[in-house]
Amino acid sequence: MSFTIAIDGPAAAGKGTIARALAAHFGFGHLDTGLLYRAVGRQVIGGTDAIAAAQALTADDLHPEDALRTAEVARFASQAAAIPQVRTALVDFQRAFARRAGGAVLDGRDIGTVICPDADVKLFVTATDDVRATRRYEELAAKGHDVTLEGVAQDLRQRDARDAGRSTAPLHAADDAVLLDTSCLPIGDAIAGAIAIVEQVMG
Ligand code: C5P
Repeated sequence: MSFTIAIDGPAAAGKGTIARALAAHFGFGHLDTGLLYRAVGRQVIGGTDAIAAAQALTADDLHPEDALRTAEVARFASQAAAIPQVRTALVDFQRAFARRAGGAVLDGRDIGTVICPDADVKLFVTATDDVRATRRYEELAAKGHDVTLEGVAQDLRQRDARDAGRSTAPLHAADDAVLLDTSCLPIGDAIAGAIAIVEQVMG
């Protein structure tokens, strides 16, 4: 059986947490597609051309995750993600994952719109700028990163503007996506809501 759940939304809206929880609940595989762009970003920092990095990317480049989850890598990832050839090079890997037997959850920016327009369930997860900045700040600070709330907020604003404003696969909700605003929602309730939406589709 193949069953695809597509989750999109801006940075730090909670989509990764919801995606992981859905995958665990239904026994599906999970792909955080941001890691692909972050892996490209990390190689660009190391001096590799973004398109060449994307074309040569393998699953091994997605580890260790901690090295990919820095504000600097995110910035380079978002710059590389605006290059159409970079995006094209990453399409097959994502679509193959989406079709895997046993079900798949993919989260990113263009999953419901470009990568899996026929996904069985599409969610668009959002939260206010302040809530997202605070969440990301606390996450990075807890890992010992040297960050300030204002610095993180500015990074997110710039990244969101770039992700939503690019000409290829910009961040926006698919017409048939269910919107989930997590600003005032405890994460447990957001996950329960997402599970209910999927169960309704599964019948
Ligand atoms: O999700 P995450 O914040 O890790 O993504 C890092 C960057 O990768 C995003 O800011 C965005 O520019 C890019 N990205 C994308 N399309 C996706 C996933 C991530 O353009 N499907």
